[in-house]
Amino acid sequence: MTRLRMAVIGVGHLGQHHARILANMPDVDLVGVVDANPDQARTVAAKLGTEAYEHFEPLIGCVDAVSVVTPTIHHHAVASAFLNAGVPTLVEKPVCRTLAEADDLIALADAAGVPLQVGHIERFNPAFEELARRPIRPKFVEAERHGPFTGRSIDIGAVLDLMIHDLDLLLALVGGPVTRVAAVGAAVFGGYEDMVNARLEFENGCVAHVTASRITRHPKRRLRVWAPEGYAGIDFVTRKLTLVQQSAELREHGIRAEQLDAAAKARLKDEVFGRYLQVLNLDADRKFDQLTAELKHFIYCVRTGHGPRVSGRDGRDALELAERVLAALRAHPWEGSAEGPHGPKPPRPAGWLFPPIQIARPEAA
Ligand code: NAD
Repeated sequence: MTRLRMAVIGVGHLGQHHARILANMPDVDLVGVVDANPDQARTVAAKLGTEAYEHFEPLIGCVDAVSVVTPTIHHHAVASAFLNAGVPTLVEKPVCRTLAEADDLIALADAAGVPLQVGHIERFNPAFEELARRPIRPKFVEAERHGPFTGRSIDIGAVLDLMIHDLDLLLALVGGPVTRVAAVGAAVFGGYEDMVNARLEFENGCVAHVTASRITRHPKRRLRVWAPEGYAGIDFVTRKLTLVQQSAELREHGIRAEQLDAAAKARLKDEVFGRYLQVLNLDADRKFDQLTAELKHFIYCVRTGHGPRVSGRDGRDALELAERVLAALRAHPWEGSAEGPHGPKPPRPAGWLFPPIQIARPEAA
């Protein structure tokens, strides 16, 4: 098999991992890494034994596929240049900053007949893959994605940075369209929302509560699904899937707890889990690496022409829903009146929850 010549554009926090994984793939030749910060490009290139570039243009015509891992505001400029030249492109999430940019990338990929994949990596989380294989019709979903402040991705807010992962998963699991969106969110460290909660109503009757925060002390990434078929809980960090379903006896005969006598009620309490509700815990292989799976899938699509699991259109759909969440968030009246503050700028605090703690600040030099 001929080796695929590949490059990674943007080798910061995440891009250097794309580059490391590709450099170690036997069927890939990592011909270069590009970073607007030349020192960063040189450091990563030296570690991986490849060439460093400050600009991506010289690589057009020298690569069979490319991975774009720059900040979101640059996705369109970089990805469109490669797609224009007919180069299959993996672009990190969110696909672009605007829907118009996303549409342009999709049109370019279609015109060139090459794969455009978007880096919604949770689709490759084995716990999600395992759930998506099962016949579940979600009716209520709760998604939480909380992380600490990293100082990265501050060109976007928590919706495009974090929540978009869960919006993509919801669209994949529940299916659209979404008929109603309400949201509230607050900007704490700048102009973009750092935390947000959205309530989504789907045409098929499903309701989802989605929360994202990038200023949380204790990270949490989980999805909980209630469906006629049962309950499913995913912990994306530990990649654990918990499934609960009614036993055949309960499905067939039902139970009227309110009609049971005291002794039967006491028995039911002991038999809820086991006889009536059955639980299956599935743990993924701890060594499984999602980014490797995502990149291998992209390479498979490049080699075979197969459509990517997360296509440009999927990335666009997630972005469109994210934009609706942002519009709802901007319209939210904090004081319930048109005169008061709206959007991610909440009212100023009116009181203290506890006496403020005095923190000594370093003397100015
Ligand atoms: P980062 O700031 O750490 O890295 C970005 C790098 O791109 C920097 O080194 C910067 O110098 C370089 N860069 C900027 N403009 C460039 C350009 N025009 N050409 C070449 N290089 C350029 O950011 P990050 O955290 O690595 O995020 C990068 C992208 O990955 C973002 O789109 C982000 O949303 C996405 N991301 C996705 C996930 C995920 O779970 N899938 C996780 C983190 C980040």
